[in-house]
Amino acid sequence: MDEAIIITGSSRGIGAATALLASRRNYAVCVNYRSNRDAAQQVVDAILKQGGRAVAIQADVSVESDVIRLFDSCEESLGKPRAVVNNAGVLESQMRFEHMQVDRWRRVMDTNIIGTFLCAREAVRRMSTRNGGAGGAIVNLSSGAARLGSPGEYVDYAATKGAIDTLTVGLAKEVAAEGIRVNAVRAGFIYTDMHASGGEPGRVDRLKDTIPMRRGGSPEEVSEAILWLLSDAASYVTGTFIDVTGGR
Ligand code: NAP
Repeated sequence: MDEAIIITGSSRGIGAATALLASRRNYAVCVNYRSNRDAAQQVVDAILKQGGRAVAIQADVSVESDVIRLFDSCEESLGKPRAVVNNAGVLESQMRFEHMQVDRWRRVMDTNIIGTFLCAREAVRRMSTRNGGAGGAIVNLSSGAARLGSPGEYVDYAATKGAIDTLTVGLAKEVAAEGIRVNAVRAGFIYTDMHASGGEPGRVDRLKDTIPMRRGGSPEEVSEAILWLLSDAASYVTGTFIDVTGGR
């Protein structure tokens, strides 16, 4: 029997690639999205076409009641999740720090930090052997920005990824003896829509010469690291990071 996985923000980009690979690795996939229903349905259709099981569930990860509904709906349609990927993330227009407004910080922190916290909490409540669960694995999407800080572009976004790194280390230790592994993937410059939301769709190509491998990465390359961390092949791995950054 396939195990259920929740991948937040899997209507597009890295999340969508992870959903497709998870299905090929025999997971039943809960494809979460915030507003792009058609894109989420396309991911579900592609999974069904390759013989897998999937459902699309709308939920804003920054809203507590949405996250609880997301996990409940997953349980009802696919079974109790054994894996959760905290992938949903946002950034806003590139600008210097002193020009940023407090509303922007709250939006970025709401999705990236509160969203990750809420989904990780819900995962622990349902997966921890201490709570009668069967264990599982969580992978959080961090970024090379957590190490580099994104100066002049989005220091706020980078700081949310720093918070996710600290959550990963602390939560991993807290639940290590309860059957749950918690790790993170720090992605580098990956070809997705995200850069357009920062106001520069061509950002990866502009910056690719600063990457030791001299190219941007694909969502599929990131999904391979995520699926490895979730797999039994990583059974003794927790509280750690894989950088998928082309050496940056
Ligand atoms: P993307 O292409 O912009 O897609 C973002 C996804 O997140 C979409 O599925 C979107 O849903 C969903 N989403 C946004 N806010 C949400 C919310 N509040 N609740 C639920 N879903 C929400 O992003 P991406 O580039 O694939 O990035 C995925 C993750 O990797 C993010 O955490 C990002 O920070 C991280 N990352 C990306 C890069 C990169 O270069 N791309 C580098 C480092 C780290 P809708 O389709 O409904 O809008």
